Amino acid sequence: MQVELGRGAADGSVRAVRGGLVRGEAGDRPDVGVGAQGVARDLREERERAEGADLARERPGAPPMLTGMLLIDGGPAPADTVGMRTGGVPLVPDGFVWPVCAECGGNQQFLVHLPLDSCVVAVFFCQNDPGMCDDWDPASGANRAYVFDGLLAPAAVPADGETQLGAVTALHPHPDGEPAPATVLGRLAGDPDWIQNDETPACPACTEPMTFTAQLEEGADHATAANFGSGRAYVFRCHPCAEAAFLWQC
Ligand SMILES: [Zn+2]
Ligand SMILES: [Zn+2]
Repeated sequence: MQVELGRGAADGSVRAVRGGLVRGEAGDRPDVGVGAQGVARDLREERERAEGADLARERPGAPPMLTGMLLIDGGPAPADTVGMRTGGVPLVPDGFVWPVCAECGGNQQFLVHLPLDSCVVAVFFCQNDPGMCDDWDPASGANRAYVFDGLLAPAAVPADGETQLGAVTALHPHPDGEPAPATVLGRLAGDPDWIQNDETPACPACTEPMTFTAQLEEGADHATAANFGSGRAYVFRCHPCAEAAFLWQC
């Protein structure tokens, strides 16, 4: 299965997206007309085709995916592309405030942009003094996982702190169980491959166990990879509460 995400942003011209979807050139105007909505709808349909029916089944109320999708290395990507990626600039709603670490007070590092059904999950974690802050812990305040909806635009990146990865890497879905044509950098849905014990987090809003959404590998190139202590990171969601959580194990 050939898939390609983020084509709408390949020229890096995207200024605003809705739930990870390109609004198109007309979206630059504050009064978006029917034409722009048509563009958004067309691009959404294109993206859904690209991502395949497996991802569409993650819509609220739909049954969970029975099997996962691998996320393979899709190569360098534009910093603000709407496709799945690690690194680059987060796409955020109006009024977004870049998260700071509850332990050291520094600006967190943007890790991953995951457009999923009608929302985007965006994860940050503290890398200002690796090993000193509990950025592996979903409840420490040394990381933040957001569920964004509505109109999103590239964030203003703070000047201070370790805020960005060394590279922007596209994550392309690939059927699990089939030979991967590129390095596997993670997986969507299915069951988490725990390195340590099952540490499924409880939703901070409703306290129910959260749903496994994705896992991420560090990547082979230490100059550009994320830092999970040579381990693996996990992203969870609570669909009803629109909450997300992040942790890593090694
Ligand atoms: Zn910190
Ligand atoms: Zn909840």
